[in-house]
Formats: sequence, C-alpha cells, structure tokens
Amino acid sequence: MADRGPAPPPTPELVAERVAAIRERIRAAGGDDGVRIVGVTKTFPLGHVESALAAGLVDLGENYAQELVEKAEGAAAAGLEPRWHFIGGLQRNKVKLLAGRVWLWQTVDRPSLVDEIAKRDPGSRVLIQVNTTEEAQKSGCRPDEAEALVDRARERGLRPLGLMTVGPTAPGGVGGDDPRPAFELLRGLAERCEVAELSMGMSADYELAVAAGATMVRIGSAIFGPRAPRGG
Ligand SMILES: *Cc1c(COP(=O)(O)O)cnc(C)c1O
Repeated sequence: MADRGPAPPPTPELVAERVAAIRERIRAAGGDDGVRIVGVTKTFPLGHVESALAAGLVDLGENYAQELVEKAEGAAAAGLEPRWHFIGGLQRNKVKLLAGRVWLWQTVDRPSLVDEIAKRDPGSRVLIQVNTTEEAQKSGCRPDEAEALVDRARERGLRPLGLMTVGPTAPGGVGGDDPRPAFELLRGLAERCEVAELSMGMSADYELAVAAGATMVRIGSAIFGPRAPRGG
C-alpha cells in the first residue's frame, strides 16, 4: 500500500472546535475557566503548532528536548511565542539546551535536577513530578519525597508552582486502571506542600482529573488526533 505520509495539521477552526468541546467537558466536570489546557504537540510538526496558536491555545507541551528546541525556533521565526511546557523525562544534561525556552518545567523529580535548573535557568517556574501509582518504570519522585523537593526548589530560588503526575500507564500500579486514587493523592500532597498548581489529566482521563482538582490538563490526541508510534 502507498505511504500517505504524515497527516496534514488540523485547521485552526477544527482545533478551536475541539478545544471548545474540551472546555465544555471541563466545566461539566466541575472545573472553572481558569483550568489551563496545555496542548501536547510532541511528534507533530510545526504546522500543528501554528494551528494550535491560531486557534487561541497559548500553552504547548513537548516531551523531547531537541524537538522542543526545533519547534520553539521554528515558531519564533514565524513570530510565534507560545508558553512551552517541558513534560517529558528530563536528563540533567538537557537542561542547558532548554534553559530560557521553557515557561514551566513540569517534570522535576530529583535534587540534581532542581540544582541544575536553578543554575542554568535561575528563578524559573517548576512543578515537582510525583509517581503516584508506584509503577516501577515511571518517572516522578515518591510521594514522600515531594515536600523536600518543593522546599529545595524554593531554597534554590526557583518558583515551585505545584505538582504534576501521570495517571496509571501499566497494570499492577496503585488504583489499577482507575486514575482517581493517583489524582487524589496528588491533591493531598499539594495541600501539604502549600502549592496551588496540579498538572494532571490527559486525553483519556482529564475529566476525572478536573473533578479531583486539576488546575492544568495536558492534552494531545483529543486536540491533534492520533500520534504515529515513535521510532516506527
Ligand atoms: C503525551 C503526553 C500527554 C498527552 O497525551 P494524550 O493522551 O495524547 O492526551 C500528556 N502528558 C504527558 C506527560 C505526555 O507524555
């Protein structure tokens, strides 16, 4: 069969329609209009970024350092400056590359990352990522480590705005495939750490996350369509 190549980006009108539908469901789940929708553009080309911004999204999330840099440069060349959120697994040696481009570092999960971000991107906004499901392969600190990381970030002059988590991704974690225990755990931790932002919920589970108090949802496929498998 003929390879049809990458799918064209959705039009700004289609993106706007999908975002409006998501906004409606956020309201129905008890969220107000302050819930921030982060459009996840990972693996999609620059055309998707342009459509998202034309549709009125301002927050975009990327998982891979090099890809974020390329898209940020492409967007800037077109006069576009979204707020970039780094939401992928973060290696310490990628912090330098990303510094100055990231509006919110969402995946800070160990002391060495706090220190490196404080050094390379002083005063920046961070979220502490927590592994709320006890899945072995997953990024995120243990729940009982979150408070010390928030404190360390404050001590190093960073702005720890809140916590981030990813719901269950594999069988056998806390809650099975029900993400609610993970989301409730994160909310309780944020109260204890005295931080306001809760980044939780993706295309499949954002309504449950909002019902549990999410202030920020990270949504890719429900806005941009399915992603091609990576490296495939
Ligand atoms: C890919 C990704 C998302 C978005 O996933 P969808 O299911 O496409 O909405 C959100 N958060 C993180 C951390 C991701 O890696």
